Amino acid sequence: MKKQLSIYVHIPFCARKCLYCDFLSFNAGIDVIESYFNALGKEIALWADKFKDKEYEVISVFFGGGTPSFVDAGYIAGILELIKDKFIVMEDAEITIEANPASAMYEKLLAYRKAGINRLSIGAQSLNDEELKRLGRLHDSRMFFETFENARKAGFDNINIDIMSALPGQSLDSYLGTVKRVTELRPEHISAYSLIVEEGTPFFDMDLDLPDEETDREMYHKTLQILSECGYHRYEISNYALGKEYECRHNKIYWQRGNYLGVGLGAASMVENRRWSNLRDIERYVGALYDIQLSAGSEGALAGSEGDSGKNRKICRDILAPDALGICENIEDLSLNSQMEEFMFLGLRLTEGVSIKRFKELFSLEIRDVYGQVIDKYEKMALLEEDGNYLKLTEKGLDVSNTVMADFILED
Ligand code: SF4
Repeated sequence: MKKQLSIYVHIPFCARKCLYCDFLSFNAGIDVIESYFNALGKEIALWADKFKDKEYEVISVFFGGGTPSFVDAGYIAGILELIKDKFIVMEDAEITIEANPASAMYEKLLAYRKAGINRLSIGAQSLNDEELKRLGRLHDSRMFFETFENARKAGFDNINIDIMSALPGQSLDSYLGTVKRVTELRPEHISAYSLIVEEGTPFFDMDLDLPDEETDREMYHKTLQILSECGYHRYEISNYALGKEYECRHNKIYWQRGNYLGVGLGAASMVENRRWSNLRDIERYVGALYDIQLSAGSEGALAGSEGDSGKNRKICRDILAPDALGICENIEDLSLNSQMEEFMFLGLRLTEGVSIKRFKELFSLEIRDVYGQVIDKYEKMALLEEDGNYLKLTEKGLDVSNTVMADFILED
């Protein structure tokens, strides 16, 4: 049986930086965008060669950013075609693109559908125009509704809408107004996160009128209540779907510790318990891949022909040794303890919890032999419960998930 792989493609460009944003994103001109997509194509071709004997099949592709819809749709279609050409992509793979209402015009959405993208994630954040302005977003609610309507017209039948709570100047009523109007559209998926003011963002140095903690908690609880009443089930702390078939397969791979390959600037990967991330500096990233092309000379050489330079022979044959590409950093082979910790604190984000059987299969240890004490403690507090073959956080446990999860860190 083939192993499963998910591919994340980072598109780091945005028209303008939002005031709360700490993602790797920036504005750039057409020359930079062009050279970035050239480099990205080469990175994908190199990885495909590394993976070709590994029997992986791609179950999801996710174009994230930045704002993938900021660039010409032809770039996105080209990258997707390359991935389909170079990897074994499952016929029914989930292929998502993130879109910003300010740049996702009807023609673009149509082009995505034609290219084979079958899931759209729209960053609405709020349907209150004042709140959107304060966030530094380029769109308003009218543009959002237009994008949603165009997406349906273009044939998207699997749409996620991102919304945010705890925004500056946001009242409970205003937030609930956004939640209700979003549910009326019946998107298949809703992600509801609360704003975290990160260091290094303009928001961090501003005197913001943020909702107090009590209001913040109420927003969180009401989200769950309203979305449940409207038929959405919560399958992860902040994610809701209209049915199991609409749960985001790509994100579940992260929470269930599946193999994922991140391509593009700053993208993170984890394959067979080796973790790494790509360079975050676009000049270095493009430069490193440009050099590879110069020494290899052709795509045949990229695929590892005998005429390669020594450098490229190493690149092509050192399968799953990403450091050989020269674009990867922070490479780490995860210890058994790290793998078990991640299995617990990522898996417990899912409302179904972690599989006790899977833990045994992966680590050849009983879950209670490793975590007996902490499991007992939280079961007694009614924060954790065993449900069939799964161990999961209770409703109350999900409310204080960070505290519970932190207890699953093992001492080395
Ligand atoms: S659109 Fe998204 S990635 Fe771009 S600046 Fe705004 S929050 Fe950041």
